[in-house]
Amino acid sequence: MSSTSNRIHVPDRKVAEGVYRFGTRRINWYILEGDEEVTIIDAGLPAHWPQLVAWLDENGYELDDVAALVLTHADVDHVGFAKTLASQNVSVYCHPDDLPLLRSHPQSPPRWYLRNLWRPRFFAYVLEMFRDGVRSVEPLADVDLLSEGDVLSVPGEPRVIFAPGHTPGSCVLFVEDREILFCGDVLATRDIFTQKEGDPQLLGAADEDPEEAEASLARLEGLGSVTLLPGHGNPWYGDIDTALALAR
Ligand SMILES: [Zn+2]
Repeated sequence: MSSTSNRIHVPDRKVAEGVYRFGTRRINWYILEGDEEVTIIDAGLPAHWPQLVAWLDENGYELDDVAALVLTHADVDHVGFAKTLASQNVSVYCHPDDLPLLRSHPQSPPRWYLRNLWRPRFFAYVLEMFRDGVRSVEPLADVDLLSEGDVLSVPGEPRVIFAPGHTPGSCVLFVEDREILFCGDVLATRDIFTQKEGDPQLLGAADEDPEEAEASLARLEGLGSVTLLPGHGNPWYGDIDTALALAR
């Protein structure tokens, strides 16, 4: 096993049919396979890049087989190697309401970061982000835009569900035929402040607009049985309405 695969601390990258989990135990991003090419969902931090290169190589893909990067939102820990992919002519998708954020990296830590640094496990997460290049995340100016209801013509053909609140342009990506829901930071299964794994939950103090974040959960109602794949924490398997009830 390579050191990069050790770092994720999960037994297997495969979390659903044709879906693989990367990053570290604190931050997730995913590969979604289509028929011949792949879509990357979120871009972690710059130091995660070798994980992508190694996986493509081990699985018979070339960098050219990466058809798109879709960002659930433009927080720095989800934009990591986006610029590197963009420079390889990979299309990057983001909701227009997160473009100001996407164009602002690297930026000073937000106030809620500073207020929570006294928490030892949050501090450890911040140290990890520095180690993995959070200060070298590059801004992106020109990207393809996501909007509510789009079914993206990228591998896996995810449908966009606009769910603002964590950030103004947060989106959830639903792969209906495989019942996979990439929820970004709309829901997490790991508390970023205590770093404890748990049930689906809102991010609370890390949400830009907590009220709007909670209201957006209604947009996910009735999607049925899903594999919920968050930006932070382990996969959760079950009925989305149960996940929403737990989060509320
Ligand atoms: Zn995040």
